[in-house]
Amino acid sequence: MPNTKELKNKYDAVVVGSGGAGLTAALQAHELGLNVVVLEKNEKTGGNTSRASSGMNASESLVQLDEGIIDNNRDFYEETLKGGGLLNDRAMLKYFANHSALAISWLMKYGIRLTDLTITGGMSKKRAHRPASMEPVGFYLTSRMTTQVKKAGVNIFTSAKVTKLLQNSKKQVNGVEVETPDGTKTIKAKAVLLATGGFGASKEIIKKYRPDLVDYKTTNQPGATGDGLKLAEALDAQLMQMNFIQVHPTADTDNPHVYLIGEGLRGEGAILVNKSGNRFVNELSTRKIVSQAITDLHEDGAYLVFDSGVRAHFAAVEFYDQIGLVEHGDSLADLAKKIGVNADNLNKTIESWNKAVATGKDKEFSRTTGMDRELDRGPYFAIHVHPAIHYTMGGIHINTETQVLDTNGNVIDGLFAAGEVSGGLHGNNRIGGNSIAETVIFGRQAGIQMAKYIRENK
Ligand SMILES: Cc1cc2nc3c(=O)[nH]c(=O)nc-3n(C[C@H](O)[C@H](O)[C@H](O)COP(=O)(O)OP(=O)(O)OC[C@H]3O[C@@H](n4cnc5c(N)ncnc54)[C@H](O)[C@@H]3O)c2cc1C
Repeated sequence: MPNTKELKNKYDAVVVGSGGAGLTAALQAHELGLNVVVLEKNEKTGGNTSRASSGMNASESLVQLDEGIIDNNRDFYEETLKGGGLLNDRAMLKYFANHSALAISWLMKYGIRLTDLTITGGMSKKRAHRPASMEPVGFYLTSRMTTQVKKAGVNIFTSAKVTKLLQNSKKQVNGVEVETPDGTKTIKAKAVLLATGGFGASKEIIKKYRPDLVDYKTTNQPGATGDGLKLAEALDAQLMQMNFIQVHPTADTDNPHVYLIGEGLRGEGAILVNKSGNRFVNELSTRKIVSQAITDLHEDGAYLVFDSGVRAHFAAVEFYDQIGLVEHGDSLADLAKKIGVNADNLNKTIESWNKAVATGKDKEFSRTTGMDRELDRGPYFAIHVHPAIHYTMGGIHINTETQVLDTNGNVIDGLFAAGEVSGGLHGNNRIGGNSIAETVIFGRQAGIQMAKYIRENK
């Protein structure tokens, strides 16, 4: 990364944050001829995006057609709306569903090929696009995007924390103040994009809006502290749905670093069992429902159980295993003993689950997805999981052009926001795989709209 001494004092556009939304927007804006800079407070690029493990949702994509999947944007829209408790911003959601396939194709242009498919909770079809190697989507995406942004000649400055947004006398946003190792600098710009991510790691903001969640651990990177919300609020921006915070059902919280166990593992066929060795929920219901079911057990979390067949289809398990999160059993009885659940029950549970998979009918919990393979290939595996704070659905109110709205609903000129920092798209529950999609879809839109705004305000 270049040294912050090389920061210029003027650009066309400043992008704050280098996760999926920021990197996408920078590339898109550069394509349209803008002189862009990316400012990132962490030492590395990637944000929470680099942690994503399951996939990026899209409907009507070429990849789906290649796999013989006939999907439609309307179903993607409806299922996301249902998953979000009908509280999603419908215009945002419509734009999102209708531009998802294009986002997958746009990434291909940069050699970012998400050509394998899996499924996440609340979706009726395989929409979660991931690399052919089945490796976690997040790091794959951000590492390649960082390379592409640099290749395009766009500078990314790390250890550069934006602390203030600047406005001219007409109330147009025209720059930022940024703290760097060489001191605080003022950078002028015609447009500024907040792509600063969510506030899952801010106890202070969580306490303000959801005091009931303040003791939960989080899957988020420590820098997910809602800076963008504070920067925008200082300019009277409107925040929305701030109490909608997603708790993810399957995180390893037994270690100081909380690891998310990606939903794709259930998408590939893992089940959840309680201390008695029984299933207790449709594992691919929405995150809200599955998290609540685990909490309602009043046990010490639950266990994800899977076999070697599922493991072969979810590459992140290799990583979970390397860091010691995975229990192994040569047989189911062996596994049951290691995790301290009733072996007879676990055997019966797997037997009846395998029957459900073979017949396509889960009489117990009506699961209909993630049933591609029986759990019959030893060795068997288990991961101990608890719910953890994962995603903040609320945020800055934007319109479909990613322009930030003030508390009266008027556009704040020159200020744009995209990605997790914005609110409204997901309603009260985000569907797994929709956030990475949001970063690319609305990151592109932000890049386009900044270029349009600058052209119109020459
Ligand atoms: C463990 C985990 C797994 C996930 N898996 C999936 C998945 O499989 N599919 C899916 O769709 N979603 C997934 N998500 C959600 C998804 O990864 C994120 O919501 C999304 O990537 C957010 O992208 P973003 O660009 O908006 O923000 P981020 O990727 O968080 O990037 C924001 C960046 O802004 C920087 N920043 C913040 N404040 C400032 C400041 N003041 N100045 C400068 N820089 C600043 C941050 O340091 C950060 O690098 C997962 C999330 C986590 C935590």
